[in-house]
Amino acid sequence: MHRTRLYIDGRFTPPIGGGHFPAIDPATEHPFAEVAAGQAEDIDRAVRAARLAFDSGDWPGLDARARSATLRRIAEGIRARLRDIALLEVRDNGKPLPEAEWDVGDAAFCFDYYAGLAEQQAAQPPETVDLGDARFEGRIHREPVGVIGAITPWNFPLLMAVWKVAPALAAGCTIVLKPSELCSLSCEVLAEIIDAAGVPPGVFNLVTGTGPEAGQPLADHPLVDKLAFTGSVATGRKVMQAASAGIRTLSLELGGKSPFVVFDDCDIDKAVEWIMFGIFWNKGEVCSATSRVLVQRGIYDRLLDRLRAAAEAIEIGPGETPGVKLGPLVSKGQYDKVRAAIDAGRRTTARLITGGGRPEGFDAGYYLTPTIFADVPTDAGIWREEIFGPVLCVNPFDTEQEALALANDSPYGLAAAVMSDDPDRCERVAARLRAGIVWINCSQPTFTQLPWGGYKTSGIGRELGRTGFDACFETKQITRFDHKAHWGWYLDAPE
Ligand code: NAD
Repeated sequence: MHRTRLYIDGRFTPPIGGGHFPAIDPATEHPFAEVAAGQAEDIDRAVRAARLAFDSGDWPGLDARARSATLRRIAEGIRARLRDIALLEVRDNGKPLPEAEWDVGDAAFCFDYYAGLAEQQAAQPPETVDLGDARFEGRIHREPVGVIGAITPWNFPLLMAVWKVAPALAAGCTIVLKPSELCSLSCEVLAEIIDAAGVPPGVFNLVTGTGPEAGQPLADHPLVDKLAFTGSVATGRKVMQAASAGIRTLSLELGGKSPFVVFDDCDIDKAVEWIMFGIFWNKGEVCSATSRVLVQRGIYDRLLDRLRAAAEAIEIGPGETPGVKLGPLVSKGQYDKVRAAIDAGRRTTARLITGGGRPEGFDAGYYLTPTIFADVPTDAGIWREEIFGPVLCVNPFDTEQEALALANDSPYGLAAAVMSDDPDRCERVAARLRAGIVWINCSQPTFTQLPWGGYKTSGIGRELGRTGFDACFETKQITRFDHKAHWGWYLDAPE
């Protein structure tokens, strides 16, 4: 059985404590690899290596073209191993293979994209600012923020890591990555690719391990300059507390309970397609999943019938099987959590339209039928709290005003979607949805070029796009006084 290693200071190494824990295939419930259990000492080694690599100035000071060429080699390395990495993610996470291949392709593109931004930025001189006094010159420089501590979740194991690693390396930062203990394997391959691409020792470091044993020490480490976290609100709060203790910059990409407002003038086939994609793609284990659907009353019953039929037609099975569109949930813990949420939903007045249990013919594996509730009380847990599984809640509305009030009535604000044949209405509603990501006439397509992140408890800061690159920099002002000029506060001007 494969035993993973940590990657610290340019070397693959076992954890200091020597421990490992099993990686479980969610389709079979059997272990298939052993994951290195990094601990505080390993995090300390990794952070010190990253600190030295940054402070030496070699990586941040490298010509941006050389840094970008390295990033492009990483992109090529990912593409060369795309299918193997995708298969590993299927085994580790349970997602269908075409979805995994899509994710890995996106990860490669992300390195290319930030390589391009780094080159563009290097070509620009520092901004000069007119200070209204000819004796002074004002300039604004941007410098890499330093050592980044990155902590990531299991739902897109490689991609969520790459969203942090690619802009950080492009900016000239150094990084310590702590992926989720539930899906760590593809990040070990990323370390191999980064090593082969010639990234200098210490610039990228990987420490796998659990949240309390490896994540918390990384969040607490005083030599980390910025924390970049993706995960649940509960853990995000702990990471923010650690950041506040050390007054460290941080970004938080947290959970959601995103609404999808569907008006009665829309094409019903398109509505079915995008509602389904919004909640059943990646098993609903998607932070931006549009898990609350609001349907205008004129098409409510018809749409519910169509959704039930379409959900019941989804092919369920192991991710490698061709045609499968819904794999097993990631872990026993997640399976139990989602089933408990469904059971709580059954105890409300909500109508269970379809699903809610284990599909027939599956004795092993964390399989769940696509689940739809309708007429859900808006104070029920299934309507308000993130479930992070293939569970959809649908409610009717009458007016645009009412739809907006229901959509925005949430502690979250990550994403939202609106569908209508009326472009003006779409724009009006999009402008008033309180979310960082709004889709019009679709749900979930995600582009590296656009900023990603949430309002309210869904997070702080943005990843991706130019905004995600800017977040890897500190801003420095340089103010220069003309040495030949006289200031004249304490000393008189020379005769
Ligand atoms: P999680 O919070 O349980 O774990 C996330 C990471 O934090 C893991 O690496 C974990 O080991 C680590 N961790 C746990 N305890 C820690 C601690 N005390 N200190 C430091 N690190 C610790 O989340 P998860 O179950 O892996 O992921 C699912 C959550 O992630 C969902 O809420 C989902 O919405 C969110 N998510 C958000 C986005 C986004 O872009 N906004 C993207 C993907 C997932």
